[in-house]
Amino acid sequence: MQLFSIFGNPVAHSRSPLMHNSVFKHLNYKACYTRTLLKDSTKLKETFFNLKLSGANVTVPHKEAAYEACDEVRGFAKKIGVVNTLINENGKLIGYNTDADGFLYAISEFKNIQKVLIIGAGGTAKALAIRFLEEKVDVSILNRSSKRLEYFKESACHTSTWESFEVASYDLVINTTSAGLEDDSLPAPKELLESIFAHTRYIADAIYGKVTPFLQLAKEKNIIYKDGADMLLGQGVLANELFTSNRLNKDDIKKYMQKSFAL
Ligand code: NDP
Repeated sequence: MQLFSIFGNPVAHSRSPLMHNSVFKHLNYKACYTRTLLKDSTKLKETFFNLKLSGANVTVPHKEAAYEACDEVRGFAKKIGVVNTLINENGKLIGYNTDADGFLYAISEFKNIQKVLIIGAGGTAKALAIRFLEEKVDVSILNRSSKRLEYFKESACHTSTWESFEVASYDLVINTTSAGLEDDSLPAPKELLESIFAHTRYIADAIYGKVTPFLQLAKEKNIIYKDGADMLLGQGVLANELFTSNRLNKDDIKKYMQKSFAL
């Protein structure tokens, strides 16, 4: 029996255990997926091996610490320094990132995206920004503080804080902050968001399972919007393929993960 877990703080809201366990159960794969509240990022590796995990997912706020904890990082995660999936490969901790491709899958119904505004400058923002740049999309980052903006500036994104922001038009605006996850706050001042939404075609939130105040505002302004459920599904399918070394059929993984959303 293999054991998997998700590390986060908070982590009680995470639907990852339901999603992965649904796949394991329906496809008779001998594994179990739990959740682990991790307060101290520096304890990630030690906790992973103490729990004898075969693999894990990592969520807010530990994704950058997860990158540091790995013995080896592969693929897109290496490019951005952000890890959301961990694999135990013969006692070595191997890191991957499935968030960015999960998000591209989620917004595939949004057509002709050439200019995006990402609100937030954490691990998720990095993954999405660099992936969009790879697709030759024009990327702007808006964050409440300037500290984390340097990385994005160096990566050829336009960057601003709430104070320095100048309104432009966007195809898609995405909330990648945790504002609205456990509280009822907006990711930026309401007047600022209203001026942005007046020139935006689509809105997306990385948070899932609720209509955040950000999405509520989009709804009031009659803008097409979606929450983070499809992103969760997209990243989850890719993570499950890594957990099971591609031994399960991708369409089956997707089917049973989706089934768990009804629980
Ligand atoms: P990080 O902790 O790395 O980054 C958080 C960012 O949000 C920072 O830029 C921070 O700004 C900003 N922020 C936090 N609180 C507020 C607030 N109240 N108002 C404005 N800005 C704020 O988080 P992650 O990137 O790992 O995750 C962000 C969110 O995305 C989480 O809610 C997570 O659940 C969700 N997520 C969903 C996924 C899915 O599959 N649907 C996948 C990945 C993430 P500052 O720099 O000023 O501190």
